[in-house]
Formats: sequence, structure tokens, C-alpha cells
Amino acid sequence: MSAVQDQENIVIVGAGPVGLTLAIDLAARGVKCVVLEMRAENAPAHPKCNTVSARSMEIFRRFGIADEIRQQGLPADYPCDVVYATRYTRNELGRLPIPSWSERFSGRGHDAGWPTDEPPHRVSQLFLEPVLRAKAASVPHIELRYETELLSLEQDNNQVTLVTRDVASGSENTLRASYVIGCDGGRSVVRHEIGVPLEGDDNLGRIKSIFLKSDSLKEKEQLAPAWMTWVINAEQAGTMVALDGKELFLCHCRIPADVSFDGFDPVEGVCGVTGVDFDFEILAEEDWIARRLVAKKYGKGRVYLAGDAAHNWLPFAGFGMNAGIEDAITLSWRLAAINNGWASEELLASYEAERRPVGEQVSRAAMHLAQNQAPPEIPAALEDDTEEGAGLRAFVGAALVERDGPQFNPIGLNFGVPYEGSDVIISDDEEPPEFGIDLYTPSTVPGCRVPHLIFPDGSSLYDQLGPEFTLIRKNKSLDITIFTKAAQRQGMPLEVLDIPLGDQMPYDRELVLVRPDQRIAWRGDSVPADVGTLIEQVCGVFA
Ligand SMILES: Cc1cc2nc3c(=O)[nH]c(=O)nc-3n(C[C@H](O)[C@H](O)[C@H](O)COP(=O)(O)OP(=O)(O)OC[C@H]3O[C@@H](n4cnc5c(N)ncnc54)[C@H](O)[C@@H]3O)c2cc1C
Repeated sequence: MSAVQDQENIVIVGAGPVGLTLAIDLAARGVKCVVLEMRAENAPAHPKCNTVSARSMEIFRRFGIADEIRQQGLPADYPCDVVYATRYTRNELGRLPIPSWSERFSGRGHDAGWPTDEPPHRVSQLFLEPVLRAKAASVPHIELRYETELLSLEQDNNQVTLVTRDVASGSENTLRASYVIGCDGGRSVVRHEIGVPLEGDDNLGRIKSIFLKSDSLKEKEQLAPAWMTWVINAEQAGTMVALDGKELFLCHCRIPADVSFDGFDPVEGVCGVTGVDFDFEILAEEDWIARRLVAKKYGKGRVYLAGDAAHNWLPFAGFGMNAGIEDAITLSWRLAAINNGWASEELLASYEAERRPVGEQVSRAAMHLAQNQAPPEIPAALEDDTEEGAGLRAFVGAALVERDGPQFNPIGLNFGVPYEGSDVIISDDEEPPEFGIDLYTPSTVPGCRVPHLIFPDGSSLYDQLGPEFTLIRKNKSLDITIFTKAAQRQGMPLEVLDIPLGDQMPYDRELVLVRPDQRIAWRGDSVPADVGTLIEQVCGVFA
């Protein structure tokens, strides 16, 4: 029996990190939404993701939760180093120094010196999700419906009809919405229901991720503490991640090609990676296949996809969730602008034009990193307690540190990927600068992330951007009245930020128009004669 409920405005399916980010950002823009989540309210997240990118931290700073997130997980003084070793407990091969969160702003470390208020942070999804959930629960505009599973949906030109199941009672309900956003992860029912296939490369490797608890493993460690330890030996390759710096660990075991998931013994895997017999409890396991898959479409009609529902790739450089978080904020200001009456529904079409190419590019970068990691020929004497063994370890360690330098300094993936080919970004004759995993050149070319600046008084440009559009003006004497009037006519909220930047690069234009998602929509040296058309265009209003 299915009861029909009232029509909701926006329904988000999935309260993972991406769905929660979308809900929080919508609420901050005054828009109500309902979030459907099939898990129970207090169900723990899987600790699989352990890197929150600088870009995600910038977004969380705008939500007012960045400091709280930095305090989760590892103790304040726990080094976030990346280590290479033959076993988790012994034979260090090499080390990339990454500071603890209390030293994150010291300017030291392999990934130091990025132009941001919020450098990357190492914290497990296990600890991140509760902060996002608590934030979402504290906002009146968000209605979180836990233990509610989406079964199916269909849409017409005016609405989407969803059939849901109450997990506790099994009863089915029907819900109507103006828009539905599928943030329901890799096995997305939403994506399935709108008939969108994934495209890319499948079966790039198989991993068993084991979440474990042990109060005795720390005593057996012969190496200085680290956040992540890559284990290289002839028997069991894997990665260990310290989650709380005490007793919680995540152990990713690479599964040999001739062994099935079920045929792989997790206890043997953990002992192989750690190199010791010790007491531990397995709290959860997750089998996953390394893939590079991107949805063919990021939406259809009134239904859109974000996060793992739209793309699924190997966690190299730590960008699955982080890309999803940026999907969410690219979508949320559009939905809010339409809801608040100052943008056209056509604005939504450019969501796919902006985010899908990023999904393609970042997923390919992650795949290349993974292919670089293909299990090397392990020299037989690597673990020997001999001069030859020591020489081999030094050689292999140096090669690994050099190979992975960019992966653990991914400034380009954080800040450098431009939006190109979007009809709501007004390009000029300059191409965005080239970017690479660890290559970033700040730029005001439309489509780029607005370059960060710290002013002489210590304040941050990012903290001074308005919640919606911001026009950065270098010279206060430049008359922008017709610009602000055009924005008013459209109803587009616009703040003017006067900053005496002089010749400070990369701000080489008098005016820079920044969108609510901190991307540059337009720049110029004067107000264009057809500024009304410009404003309409960035709001998705086309003649
Ligand atoms: C080993 C590993 C390491 C990783 N490391 C990183 C990293 O360092 N950095 C990074 O950025 N990413 C990393 N990732 C990827 C990251 O974990 C995912 O990208 C992230 O969880 C995606 O978030 P999401 O909100 O899109 O989806 P999910 O986290 O999968 O959340 C989806 C939510 O939807 C709910 N749901 C699903 N179906 C329904 C339904 N029918 N009805 C109602 N609710 C539903 C689920 O219960 C879940 O809560 C890693 C992944 C793996 C496997």
C-alpha cells in the first residue's frame, strides 16, 4: 500500500558526504530540501575515504565547520606522513613528511605553501560524516529522513514521483518533487531509474578494505608514526591508514588476480601487510573493484546526479568524494537561484558541461597514478637483513618517494582544473593555464577558481566573497552603476568587493565577476555596453 505525500521542492537521495554538502549549501541559500537516506541515523560511515581536499575544506569553511573537521580523527600532534615500508611495522623504505593538523599552517611539509586558507586535511570519512550530519540536522531548512530507501522514480515535465520504502516497517510511500538529486553512491538507484549508463574502464584491480581495531598493534610498530603506510613486499601488498592514531586502522589488501574476494582471508591479509601476529577485531570489510567510470549524462529532465552516483574512480590522489563535494556546490547555487527566482531552469544544463569534463580529467589522472602503481617486480632480497637487502630498500624507497611526490601534493587537481565549454561562463581570448596533478597557476581566466589572496592586514579574499555573486573591483573610482543596476533588474544578488590590488597578479583586470561557487564567470577592464545580456547569460537566461 503506497501513501501519497505532498510535493517537495528538492529531494536529495543519499546522506553521504555529497548529499549532505548539497543539502547544507542549499539551506545556506534559503532553500528547503528533503534528504532520503536508507541507513539508520546513527549508522557509522565506512572509513574508506581519508583525505579531505583543500577545495573541500574551503567549502566547509564557508559552512563554518572547517575547524571542527580539523579536530576529528588523528590527534593534533600526530604526523600525517606517507611512509613506504616492506611491512607496516618495519623496514621503512621512504617517507613524505606531511604535518600534523596542529602544524598544518606552519609552512612545513611536502604539500605546504598552497594559496588557500584551508590546506588539505587527513581525516577519515568515519569522522567527517558525523560533523556533516550534525550540521545538516541543525539547519531548519533540511529534513533528514533516515531509514528511507528510494525504490524507484519516474518523471514528467512538471514533477518527479518517487516510491520509497520505510526500512523499519517495510511500508511504501509515494513522494513528489520538483527536482531530485541522486547522491546515492556507486550503485545509484537514481542513475539506474533515469537510464544513464557509466562509461570508462572497469576491473583495474581488486581490493579488500578491512576496518580493524587493535589496542596492541601500536606496541609492535618499529617505525615513526605515519598517517598512511604503503606496504611493498613479495607476499602481500597493501596500505595501512591510521584513523585515530591509537587503535583504529584501515587496511587495504590487494587481492591477487587468481584469488576471489571470498577466497581471500582477511586475517592473513592483515597479518601479511603488518608483518606481525597480533590481536585485532574486524569491524567492517568492503570489497571494491578499482574502476574509472563516469556517467554518460549528469542528469535527465528534473533529475541530476552528483558524487559517486555520477563517477566512480580509484582513490588515487584522494578525489572521489572531493570531486563529489564540488559537484554538489556547482549544482546547489543553480537550484537555489532557480528556486529564488533569479535564474532560468536552463542554468541547470551547464552543470553537466562544467562537471562532467572534470570527472573525465580527474578520473584519468587517478587511473594513470594507479597504473604507475602496478605491483613492481619485487627484488627477492628486499626484506633480507643483509647489506644487499639494505641497498635494495634504499633504492626502492627513493624511487617510490619520487614516483608519489605529485600524488601527495595535488595542488593542480585541487585548484587548477578549469570549467571550459560552459555557456554561462563568458570566455575571453585567453586560454586557462595548463594544469597537472601538482601544477597550478592562479588565473582569472573565466572558468577558473578565483585565485586566493591574503591582504596585508592578514584577512583573506575568500572570507570577503559574498554568498552569491561578487564583483571584485580593483579601483573604486571605476563606475559600475549600470552593472549593479543590471543585476538588480535580474534579481541576481551581487556584492561589490573593492580591493586595492594594484598590479597584484593574477588580478590583471579591473573587474572580476565571481560566482557563488567561487568560479570566475566574467572579467574585464570596464563595464560592457551589453551588461544586461551578460547578467542574463550567467543566470542561464538566453534570448
Ligand atoms: C578505499 C577507498 C578510499 C577512498 N579514499 C578517498 C579519498 O581519500 N578522498 C576522496 O575524496 N575519496 C575517496 N574515496 C571515495 C569516497 O569514499 C567516495 O567518493 C564517497 O564516499 C562518495 O560520496 P557520496 O556521498 O557520493 O556517496 P556515498 O558515500 O556512497 O553515499 C551514498 C549514500 O546514499 C545512500 N543510499 C544509497 N542508495 C540509496 C537509496 N536507494 N535510498 C536511500 N539512500 C540510499 C547510502 O546509504 C549512502 O549513505 C575512497 C574510496 C575508497 C573505496
